[in-house]
Amino acid sequence: MNSNEQVEQSLVCPYCWQNISILLDLSVDSQSFVEDCEVCCHPIEFHYRTEEGVLVEFDIVKVQ
Ligand SMILES: [Zn+2]
Repeated sequence: MNSNEQVEQSLVCPYCWQNISILLDLSVDSQSFVEDCEVCCHPIEFHYRTEEGVLVEFDIVKVQ
């Protein structure tokens, strides 16, 4: 069994277009949360979905 349920997902910030990364908890089925970009500090909304501990969907949107 893989006990490490957190993965680092890389993405491009929709504000500053820098490559950043975020830690996702794969032990949940789906989650949405808002976190600030580590480069430009603008809030980004993250949505993701997992199936049996595997990331199957990952989306980011700007927080208006
Ligand atoms: Zn940014």
